[in-house]
Amino acid sequence: AKAAGKNCWRVYDPSLDTGRDTRKRMERDLRAAIQRDEIGVVFQPIVSARDHQIVCVEALARWSHAEHGMIAPDIFIPIAEQSGLIIALGRSVLATSCSEALHWGVDVAVNLSPAQFWDRGLARTVRDVLDETGFPAHRLELEITESYLLRRPEAAREILEQLRAMGVRIALDDFGTGFASIGYLRRLSFDSIKIDKSFIAQAALRQKAADMARAIVAIGDALDLPVTAEGVETAEQAMIMRRAGCARLQGWLFGRPMPGAEMTAWLAEPHRA
Ligand code: C2E
Ligand code: CA
Ligand code: CA
Ligand code: CA
Repeated sequence: AKAAGKNCWRVYDPSLDTGRDTRKRMERDLRAAIQRDEIGVVFQPIVSARDHQIVCVEALARWSHAEHGMIAPDIFIPIAEQSGLIIALGRSVLATSCSEALHWGVDVAVNLSPAQFWDRGLARTVRDVLDETGFPAHRLELEITESYLLRRPEAAREILEQLRAMGVRIALDDFGTGFASIGYLRRLSFDSIKIDKSFIAQAALRQKAADMARAIVAIGDALDLPVTAEGVETAEQAMIMRRAGCARLQGWLFGRPMPGAEMTAWLAEPHRA
Protein backbone atom coordinates (compact mmCIF):
# COMPACT_ATOMS: atom_id res chain seq x y z
CA ALA A 1 0.00 0.00 0.00
CA LYS A 2 1.16 3.50 -0.83
CA ALA A 3 0.82 6.69 1.17
CA ALA A 4 -2.52 8.16 0.28
CA GLY A 5 -3.82 11.70 -0.05
CA LYS A 6 -7.29 12.81 0.90
CA ASN A 7 -9.04 11.53 -2.19
CA CYS A 8 -6.51 8.93 -3.18
CA TRP A 9 -7.37 5.52 -1.92
CA ARG A 10 -4.90 2.91 -1.01
CA VAL A 11 -5.79 -0.20 -2.84
CA TYR A 12 -5.52 -3.28 -0.74
CA ASP A 13 -6.02 -6.51 -2.59
CA PRO A 14 -5.90 -9.63 -0.42
CA SER A 15 -5.53 -11.84 -3.49
CA LEU A 16 -2.03 -10.39 -3.99
CA ASP A 17 -1.14 -11.38 -0.47
CA THR A 18 -0.61 -14.75 1.14
CA GLY A 19 -4.07 -15.99 0.31
CA ARG A 20 -5.95 -17.86 3.00
CA ASP A 21 -4.25 -16.25 6.01
CA THR A 22 -4.95 -12.78 4.74
CA ARG A 23 -8.53 -13.74 4.00
CA LYS A 24 -8.98 -15.05 7.51
CA ARG A 25 -7.44 -11.90 8.92
CA MET A 26 -9.65 -9.73 6.73
CA GLU A 27 -12.68 -11.68 7.85
CA ARG A 28 -11.76 -11.25 11.51
CA ASP A 29 -11.12 -7.52 10.97
CA LEU A 30 -14.37 -7.16 9.08
CA ARG A 31 -16.32 -8.81 11.88
CA ALA A 32 -14.77 -6.39 14.38
CA ALA A 33 -15.34 -3.44 12.05
CA ILE A 34 -19.04 -4.25 11.78
CA GLN A 35 -19.29 -4.49 15.56
CA ARG A 36 -17.47 -1.18 15.99
CA ASP A 37 -19.58 0.50 13.33
CA GLU A 38 -16.58 1.19 11.11
CA ILE A 39 -18.42 0.37 7.93
CA GLY A 40 -19.51 3.69 6.57
CA VAL A 41 -21.85 4.68 3.80
CA VAL A 42 -21.32 7.27 1.09
CA PHE A 43 -24.09 8.61 -1.12
CA GLN A 44 -24.10 9.39 -4.82
CA PRO A 45 -26.74 11.55 -6.52
CA ILE A 46 -29.04 10.11 -9.17
CA VAL A 47 -30.62 12.86 -11.26
CA SER A 48 -33.58 13.18 -13.58
CA ALA A 49 -32.37 13.08 -17.21
CA ARG A 50 -34.84 15.82 -18.11
CA ASP A 51 -33.78 18.62 -15.74
CA HIS A 52 -30.83 17.15 -13.82
CA GLN A 53 -32.68 17.57 -10.53
CA ILE A 54 -31.64 15.07 -7.89
CA VAL A 55 -34.28 12.39 -7.35
CA CYS A 56 -32.42 9.71 -5.44
CA VAL A 57 -29.10 8.83 -3.80
CA GLU A 58 -27.40 5.47 -4.05
CA ALA A 59 -25.86 4.26 -0.79
CA LEU A 60 -22.41 2.68 -1.24
CA ALA A 61 -20.56 0.92 1.57
CA ARG A 62 -17.04 1.96 2.60
CA TRP A 63 -14.70 0.33 5.08
CA SER A 64 -12.15 2.60 6.65
CA HIS A 65 -9.53 0.18 7.92
CA ALA A 66 -7.09 1.37 10.58
CA GLU A 67 -4.10 -0.29 8.92
CA HIS A 68 -4.98 -0.58 5.24
CA GLY A 69 -6.91 2.66 4.79
CA MET A 70 -10.06 2.84 2.75
CA ILE A 71 -11.08 -0.52 1.36
CA ALA A 72 -13.37 -0.66 -1.67
CA PRO A 73 -16.58 -2.71 -1.58
CA ASP A 74 -15.42 -4.85 -4.49
CA ILE A 75 -12.91 -6.32 -1.99
CA PHE A 76 -14.83 -6.59 1.27
CA ILE A 77 -18.34 -7.36 0.00
CA PRO A 78 -17.21 -10.75 -1.40
CA ILE A 79 -15.53 -11.53 1.96
CA ALA A 80 -18.73 -10.53 3.75
CA GLU A 81 -20.74 -12.71 1.36
CA GLN A 82 -18.59 -15.79 1.85
CA SER A 83 -18.44 -15.49 5.62
CA GLY A 84 -22.09 -14.70 6.23
CA LEU A 85 -21.14 -11.31 7.67
CA ILE A 86 -23.09 -9.67 4.85
CA ILE A 87 -26.33 -10.09 6.80
CA ALA A 88 -25.14 -7.89 9.68
CA LEU A 89 -23.25 -5.56 7.34
CA GLY A 90 -26.25 -5.21 5.04
CA ARG A 91 -28.55 -4.39 7.91
CA SER A 92 -26.14 -1.76 9.16
CA VAL A 93 -25.84 -0.16 5.68
CA LEU A 94 -29.64 -0.15 5.32
CA ALA A 95 -30.17 1.42 8.74
CA THR A 96 -27.50 4.09 8.19
CA SER A 97 -28.87 4.89 4.73
CA CYS A 98 -32.45 5.28 5.93
CA SER A 99 -31.58 7.40 8.93
CA GLU A 100 -29.18 9.69 7.01
CA ALA A 101 -31.51 10.13 4.04
CA LEU A 102 -34.59 10.71 6.18
CA HIS A 103 -34.49 14.50 5.97
CA TRP A 104 -33.03 14.84 2.48
CA GLY A 105 -36.39 14.60 0.78
CA VAL A 106 -35.04 12.28 -1.92
CA ASP A 107 -35.27 8.54 -2.38
CA VAL A 108 -32.47 6.24 -1.30
CA ALA A 109 -31.25 3.19 -3.21
CA VAL A 110 -29.49 0.41 -1.29
CA ASN A 111 -27.66 -2.56 -2.83
CA LEU A 112 -28.56 -6.11 -1.84
CA SER A 113 -26.18 -9.06 -2.16
CA PRO A 114 -27.41 -12.51 -3.17
CA ALA A 115 -26.99 -13.85 0.39
CA GLN A 116 -29.14 -11.01 1.70
CA PHE A 117 -31.75 -11.52 -0.97
CA TRP A 118 -32.07 -15.21 -0.18
CA ASP A 119 -31.96 -14.70 3.59
CA ARG A 120 -35.32 -15.65 5.08
CA GLY A 121 -35.13 -12.70 7.44
CA LEU A 122 -34.89 -10.08 4.65
CA ALA A 123 -38.48 -8.80 4.66
CA ARG A 124 -38.45 -8.65 8.43
CA THR A 125 -35.16 -6.75 8.49
CA VAL A 126 -36.43 -4.20 5.97
CA ARG A 127 -39.66 -3.78 7.93
CA ASP A 128 -37.75 -3.34 11.21
CA VAL A 129 -35.31 -0.81 9.79
CA LEU A 130 -38.16 1.24 8.29
CA ASP A 131 -39.94 1.19 11.66
CA GLU A 132 -36.81 2.09 13.63
CA THR A 133 -35.77 4.96 11.37
CA GLY A 134 -39.21 6.21 10.38
CA PHE A 135 -38.10 6.16 6.75
CA PRO A 136 -41.08 5.87 4.36
CA ALA A 137 -41.13 2.58 2.45
CA HIS A 138 -42.02 4.26 -0.85
CA ARG A 139 -38.76 6.23 -0.76
CA LEU A 140 -36.63 3.10 -0.45
CA GLU A 141 -35.33 1.35 -3.52
CA LEU A 142 -33.45 -1.95 -3.28
CA GLU A 143 -30.96 -2.70 -6.05
CA ILE A 144 -30.51 -6.31 -6.99
CA THR A 145 -28.58 -7.92 -9.82
CA GLU A 146 -30.18 -10.25 -12.28
CA SER A 147 -27.68 -13.10 -12.14
CA TYR A 148 -28.82 -14.69 -8.91
CA LEU A 149 -32.55 -14.45 -9.56
CA LEU A 150 -32.42 -16.94 -12.38
CA ARG A 151 -31.35 -19.76 -10.12
CA ARG A 152 -34.77 -19.93 -8.45
CA PRO A 153 -37.15 -17.67 -10.34
CA GLU A 154 -40.28 -18.78 -8.47
CA ALA A 155 -38.76 -18.23 -5.04
CA ALA A 156 -37.33 -14.91 -6.25
CA ARG A 157 -40.78 -13.85 -7.36
CA GLU A 158 -42.23 -14.46 -3.90
CA ILE A 159 -39.51 -12.43 -2.21
CA LEU A 160 -39.93 -9.56 -4.67
CA GLU A 161 -43.69 -9.47 -4.13
CA GLN A 162 -43.24 -9.48 -0.36
CA LEU A 163 -40.97 -6.44 -0.59
CA ARG A 164 -43.18 -4.64 -3.09
CA ALA A 165 -46.23 -5.29 -0.93
CA MET A 166 -44.47 -3.22 1.73
CA GLY A 167 -44.21 -0.36 -0.73
CA VAL A 168 -40.48 -0.75 -1.34
CA ARG A 169 -39.30 -0.45 -4.97
CA ILE A 170 -36.90 -2.81 -6.71
CA ALA A 171 -34.29 -1.81 -9.28
CA LEU A 172 -32.56 -4.36 -11.46
CA ASP A 173 -28.88 -3.39 -11.25
CA ASP A 174 -26.07 -3.96 -13.77
CA PHE A 175 -28.56 -4.84 -16.45
CA GLY A 176 -27.07 -6.19 -19.64
CA THR A 177 -24.00 -7.76 -18.08
CA GLY A 178 -25.23 -11.31 -17.86
CA PHE A 179 -28.66 -11.96 -19.12
CA ALA A 180 -29.53 -15.40 -20.28
CA SER A 181 -33.16 -14.64 -20.88
CA ILE A 182 -35.21 -11.48 -20.78
CA GLY A 183 -38.43 -13.46 -20.41
CA TYR A 184 -38.09 -13.42 -16.64
CA LEU A 185 -38.09 -9.63 -16.68
CA ARG A 186 -41.75 -9.75 -17.56
CA ARG A 187 -42.56 -12.44 -14.99
CA LEU A 188 -40.67 -10.90 -12.09
CA SER A 189 -41.83 -7.51 -10.94
CA PHE A 190 -39.30 -4.70 -10.92
CA ASP A 191 -39.77 -0.96 -10.80
CA SER A 192 -36.74 0.16 -12.77
CA ILE A 193 -33.63 -1.00 -14.61
CA LYS A 194 -30.06 0.28 -14.31
CA ILE A 195 -27.84 -0.05 -17.36
CA ASP A 196 -24.37 -1.18 -16.40
CA LYS A 197 -21.69 1.46 -16.62
CA SER A 198 -19.64 -0.57 -19.09
CA PHE A 199 -22.22 0.32 -21.78
CA ILE A 200 -22.12 3.99 -20.89
CA ALA A 201 -18.32 4.09 -21.04
CA GLN A 202 -18.42 2.60 -24.53
CA ALA A 203 -21.46 4.45 -25.83
CA ALA A 204 -19.60 7.59 -26.86
CA LEU A 205 -16.88 5.54 -28.55
CA ARG A 206 -18.70 2.74 -30.30
CA GLN A 207 -21.96 2.81 -32.17
CA LYS A 208 -22.64 -0.77 -31.06
CA ALA A 209 -22.62 0.13 -27.39
CA ALA A 210 -24.88 3.12 -28.00
CA ASP A 211 -27.25 0.82 -29.92
CA MET A 212 -27.20 -1.65 -27.02
CA ALA A 213 -28.09 1.12 -24.58
CA ARG A 214 -30.99 2.13 -26.83
CA ALA A 215 -32.11 -1.49 -27.04
CA ILE A 216 -32.11 -1.77 -23.24
CA VAL A 217 -34.20 1.38 -22.96
CA ALA A 218 -36.60 -0.11 -25.53
CA ILE A 219 -36.94 -3.23 -23.35
CA GLY A 220 -37.62 -0.95 -20.39
CA ASP A 221 -40.24 0.96 -22.40
CA ALA A 222 -41.97 -2.25 -23.44
CA LEU A 223 -42.19 -3.25 -19.79
CA ASP A 224 -43.04 0.25 -18.56
CA LEU A 225 -39.83 0.39 -16.55
CA PRO A 226 -37.80 3.61 -16.33
CA VAL A 227 -34.11 3.13 -17.07
CA THR A 228 -31.17 4.65 -15.15
CA ALA A 229 -27.75 5.05 -16.78
CA GLU A 230 -24.91 4.69 -14.28
CA GLY A 231 -21.29 5.74 -14.64
CA VAL A 232 -22.04 8.93 -16.61
CA GLU A 233 -18.75 10.83 -16.60
CA THR A 234 -19.05 13.24 -19.53
CA ALA A 235 -21.63 15.66 -20.91
CA GLU A 236 -21.53 13.71 -24.18
CA GLN A 237 -22.42 10.45 -22.41
CA ALA A 238 -25.25 12.25 -20.59
CA MET A 239 -26.61 13.54 -23.90
CA ILE A 240 -26.40 10.12 -25.57
CA MET A 241 -28.18 8.45 -22.66
CA ARG A 242 -30.87 11.10 -22.45
CA ARG A 243 -31.47 10.79 -26.20
CA ALA A 244 -31.55 7.01 -25.84
CA GLY A 245 -34.49 7.57 -23.50
CA CYS A 246 -32.96 7.03 -20.05
CA ALA A 247 -35.10 8.57 -17.31
CA ARG A 248 -32.34 8.94 -14.76
CA LEU A 249 -28.59 9.53 -14.85
CA GLN A 250 -25.91 8.76 -12.28
CA GLY A 251 -22.17 9.34 -12.41
CA TRP A 252 -19.23 11.55 -11.62
CA LEU A 253 -20.55 14.24 -13.97
CA PHE A 254 -23.35 14.90 -11.50
CA GLY A 255 -21.64 14.00 -8.26
CA ARG A 256 -19.18 11.59 -6.68
CA PRO A 257 -20.20 9.33 -3.82
CA MET A 258 -19.90 11.48 -0.68
CA PRO A 259 -20.36 11.17 3.09
CA GLY A 260 -23.74 12.07 4.54
CA ALA A 261 -22.65 15.45 5.93
CA GLU A 262 -21.31 16.46 2.52
CA MET A 263 -24.53 15.34 0.88
CA THR A 264 -26.53 17.51 3.27
CA ALA A 265 -24.44 20.53 2.20
CA TRP A 266 -24.60 19.54 -1.47
CA LEU A 267 -28.39 19.36 -1.35
CA ALA A 268 -28.53 22.84 0.15
CA GLU A 269 -26.62 24.38 -2.79
CA PRO A 270 -28.54 25.71 -5.76
CA HIS A 271 -27.60 23.50 -8.65
CA ARG A 272 -25.41 22.94 -11.32
CA ALA A 273 -24.75 20.55 -14.25
P1 C2E B 1 -22.76 -0.84 -8.22
O1 C2E B 1 -23.96 -1.10 -7.39
O2 C2E B 1 -22.87 -1.09 -9.67
O3 C2E B 1 -22.37 0.68 -7.90
C1 C2E B 1 -21.90 1.58 -8.85
C2 C2E B 1 -20.39 1.74 -8.76
O4 C2E B 1 -19.97 2.66 -9.76
C3 C2E B 1 -19.91 2.33 -7.43
O5 C2E B 1 -18.66 1.75 -7.12
C4 C2E B 1 -19.74 3.81 -7.78
O6 C2E B 1 -18.84 4.48 -6.92
C5 C2E B 1 -19.20 3.68 -9.18
N1 C2E B 1 -19.43 4.90 -9.98
C6 C2E B 1 -20.40 5.82 -9.85
N2 C2E B 1 -20.30 6.78 -10.78
C7 C2E B 1 -19.25 6.45 -11.54
C8 C2E B 1 -18.63 7.06 -12.71
O7 C2E B 1 -19.07 8.08 -13.23
N3 C2E B 1 -17.57 6.41 -13.23
C9 C2E B 1 -17.05 5.27 -12.69
N4 C2E B 1 -16.00 4.72 -13.26
N5 C2E B 1 -17.60 4.68 -11.60
C10 C2E B 1 -18.68 5.27 -11.04
P2 C2E B 1 -18.28 1.28 -5.64
O8 C2E B 1 -18.81 2.29 -4.66
O9 C2E B 1 -16.83 0.97 -5.62
O10 C2E B 1 -19.10 -0.06 -5.46
C11 C2E B 1 -18.79 -1.19 -6.22
C12 C2E B 1 -19.84 -2.26 -6.07
O11 C2E B 1 -19.85 -2.78 -4.74
C13 C2E B 1 -21.25 -1.77 -6.29
O12 C2E B 1 -21.51 -1.69 -7.69
C14 C2E B 1 -22.06 -2.83 -5.57
O13 C2E B 1 -22.22 -3.95 -6.40
C15 C2E B 1 -21.15 -3.18 -4.42
N6 C2E B 1 -21.60 -2.49 -3.21
C16 C2E B 1 -21.32 -1.25 -2.76
N7 C2E B 1 -21.93 -0.99 -1.59
C17 C2E B 1 -22.65 -2.10 -1.29
C18 C2E B 1 -23.52 -2.47 -0.19
O14 C2E B 1 -23.80 -1.69 0.73
N8 C2E B 1 -24.07 -3.72 -0.24
C19 C2E B 1 -23.81 -4.58 -1.26
N9 C2E B 1 -24.40 -5.77 -1.22
N10 C2E B 1 -23.03 -4.27 -2.29
C20 C2E B 1 -22.44 -3.05 -2.31
CA1 CA C 1 -25.99 -0.48 -7.42
CA1 CA D 1 -24.67 -0.96 -11.04
CA1 CA E 1 -21.55 -3.25 -10.42
